[in-house]
Amino acid sequence: MDIYGILGFPVGHSLSPLLHNKAFKNLGINAEYDYFEISPDRLKYFFSNEVINLPIKGLSVTIPHKISCMEFLDEISESAQKIGAVNTIKNENNKLIGENFDWIGVRDSVLEEIDFKNKRVGICGAGGAARAATFAASHAACSELIIFVRDPQKHQKFATDFNCKVLNFPDLNSKAKSIEIDILINATPVGMYPEINLSPFNLDLLAGKPIIFDMVYKPLQTKMLQEAKAKGFKTITGEKMLLNQAYKQFEFWTGMPSPKEIMKKELLKNLQ
Ligand code: NAP
Repeated sequence: MDIYGILGFPVGHSLSPLLHNKAFKNLGINAEYDYFEISPDRLKYFFSNEVINLPIKGLSVTIPHKISCMEFLDEISESAQKIGAVNTIKNENNKLIGENFDWIGVRDSVLEEIDFKNKRVGICGAGGAARAATFAASHAACSELIIFVRDPQKHQKFATDFNCKVLNFPDLNSKAKSIEIDILINATPVGMYPEINLSPFNLDLLAGKPIIFDMVYKPLQTKMLQEAKAKGFKTITGEKMLLNQAYKQFEFWTGMPSPKEIMKKELLKNLQ
């Protein structure tokens, strides 16, 4: 039996095992996707022993290992290098290959509503997910990129890495509808369960009718998305990104098309 899994600390909350195990079962693949909850001090041992000896054929990688795992890999894709993080590992005859499909998750979810090309893009947050969204937007030739953060000084490297503006979150009490962007993406945890009454951005400040994408998927209809809907803005929910990157992971590991509808149904059943 082939072994796959999610590497993180903690990982108990992850929905990836449900998705991938359902897909393996549906296609009759003799494989199992497990939880690998590995503390940072055990990461080196994990890569030099467990990954090789079990052996583990593929891993999804989550917080806090997306960057720290990179030093244990033999090859890292160009996009993962540019993003500066790996969210997927494939073990090909003991050669560990790192990829980042979070940006594909963003790209394919956004494409359902809008093409980034020539669009003005705003992103809340400057962590790993924000870097993946920034890569997706710049890869598709967006016209402008603004990153909203709590402390721009702390994120100057982000501005240089991606040639974008890094600004403070706008004043929440301001009333001016002055920010002109076509799509706003939340890549912070603000609004995630249990703090479901919070939104990272005052949508009153946006001019026009931008599309609002929230990466948070617990709950699916976050406060930010509820406010966007009330204003008549189009919205994109966070589970789409999770699914789109999972489809790519599955195909990268197995070389087979992922059973998308089965995986989507399984996720939505567990998010209701
Ligand atoms: P991360 O690397 O920890 O980055 C989090 C970012 O959010 C940081 O820039 C942080 O700001 C900012 N932030 C945190 N709390 C904030 C607050 N109260 N107000 C304003 N900004 C705040 O995390 P990540 O991996 O990028 O993930 C970010 C979010 O995206 C998480 O909620 C995660 O669940 C979600 N996500 C979803 C998917 C999906 O498939 N849907 C995939 C990946 C991530 P500072 O720099 O100031 O600390």
